[in-house]
Amino acid sequence: MIKKVLVANRGEIAMRIFRSCRVMNLPTVAIYTHADRGALHVRYAEEAYCISENEADTSYLKPEIILNIAKKTGAAIHPGYGFLSENADFARRCEEEGVVFIGPSADIIAKMGIKTEARKIMEAAGVPIVPGTKEPVSMENVHAKAKEVGYPIMLKALAGGGGKGMRMVRKEEDLEAAFRMSASEAANSFGDDAIYIEKYIENPHHIEVQVLGDKYGNVIHLYERECSIQRRNQKVIEESPSPFVKEETRKKMLAIAVAACKKIGYYSAGTLEFMMDKDQNFYFLEMNTRLQVEHPVTEACTGVDLVRDMILIAGGSPLPYKQEEIEFRGAAIECRIYAEDPESNFMPSPGVIRVREAPEGRNVRLDSCAYAGFEVSLHYDPMIAKLCSWGRNRESAISNMRRALREYKILGIKTTIPFHQRVLQNSTFLKGNYDTTFIDTKFDKEELKRRENNDPTVAIIAASLKHFEQEKEAAARATTVPLVGESLWKHYGKLQMSANNF
Ligand code: ADP
Ligand code: ADP
Ligand code: MG
Repeated sequence: MIKKVLVANRGEIAMRIFRSCRVMNLPTVAIYTHADRGALHVRYAEEAYCISENEADTSYLKPEIILNIAKKTGAAIHPGYGFLSENADFARRCEEEGVVFIGPSADIIAKMGIKTEARKIMEAAGVPIVPGTKEPVSMENVHAKAKEVGYPIMLKALAGGGGKGMRMVRKEEDLEAAFRMSASEAANSFGDDAIYIEKYIENPHHIEVQVLGDKYGNVIHLYERECSIQRRNQKVIEESPSPFVKEETRKKMLAIAVAACKKIGYYSAGTLEFMMDKDQNFYFLEMNTRLQVEHPVTEACTGVDLVRDMILIAGGSPLPYKQEEIEFRGAAIECRIYAEDPESNFMPSPGVIRVREAPEGRNVRLDSCAYAGFEVSLHYDPMIAKLCSWGRNRESAISNMRRALREYKILGIKTTIPFHQRVLQNSTFLKGNYDTTFIDTKFDKEELKRRENNDPTVAIIAASLKHFEQEKEAAARATTVPLVGESLWKHYGKLQMSANNF
């Protein structure tokens, strides 16, 4: 039995996990860096520990310190996603030192963390895999191996994650340069420069299957998610069910995923990712041995609380449901909201959030770490929130999402909200037959700028600001005169502060 939960993470996912703990009446422990001392997850937890006294240290990758805090507080560790979530050594140390790790076994994490290993295991378990090399390639044999697989190919890092170290190559003359770049990016991101080759699947759909297993060999699936709206091989919008997958293919895919997980003895929540071509052929891509960013769409359609179940399973409980008891209802969409400027090629947009109005109401879910006054720093992932909508069917989920996006107001930094609004009006998206090339080929980025300039709310805000400035100037002339020698900047700064009631 788990009596307390430490979340070895930050941001929206730390909040997400703490919320389920509160529902389960489990006390919580937060960890934080100096840069995050004002973060929401620190305030929400019953206990919070700073994991670095060093102001410049913004890392959450501290196995030793986190383990010690878990032992001291008697907490199990939920790693969230990113950071230590797929670090097999960390999971193993937890196992060895008697700290419950809320996730799968260290052994499975280790195997699935190496993509070539994962491919072998899945192939042996009867799962079709993307054609490619079984072993890593070197500068010496990369030409021959690429020819064998057949162009176009994808160079991929064995240790890959977060879309890093991946490069598509169409022609042999581009191979060497691409190989060097992939290897160096992989070395920088993962401390491992090993690269292997996959056949590049043209116009693929990214479809993934959510699974949930216990320590007694029971495994169920929670249907699929379509994650083909991507930028730089990273998902930005996800939905469930996939509007592309045919019923017959779905059945086959779900059955294969469950059978494979039973075969490898998988427990906890996990995701099998697949590439699907236009003819509904699907190939295993990788397995993520953790809670996925986009899990809320699955929760919306199945009613399952994945975090709660992960905690129960880690504590030794059997799966709380049988496959037949999972009832899939309606459709759900998730938009990942980033602190980026979609009008300037998605440049990072750090800074202090001045105003935040969150969408509310029927069939809308917001998982967020943002509040007015919160500073979005460059040190961390720029994703500040996930907005999720549900509907009885896809059309209604889309209408609800559009409504929620209109209500969502964040001022002070730029966000990707206008981008999502655009996608949710795009005819290809509405038809539901989009692939991973959507943003590059079907989405008019220029239109985003035109829309921004024509938006009446922009005009209203501009007019209000102008009016405010004029009033302020008039007030300044009438009531205050700068003290002799006082800087005008300071003077107006003070006026500004009193106007904002700071
Ligand atoms: P998901 O399918 O859940 O989105 P991703 O592989 O995209 O999984 O990663 C989940 C999160 O972890 C993302 O926020 C991503 O930025 C981060 N992440 C994953 N792997 C890495 C990595 N190697 N380096 C940096 N960030 C990573
Ligand atoms: P990561 O570990 O970074 O999440 P994945 O192997 O899951 O890497 O791939 C991420 C994305 O990259 C996929 O969703 C897809 O868009 C693209 N991709 C990866 N492999 C291929 C491939 N063989 N063919 C076409 N696209 C691919
Ligand atoms: Mg992936």
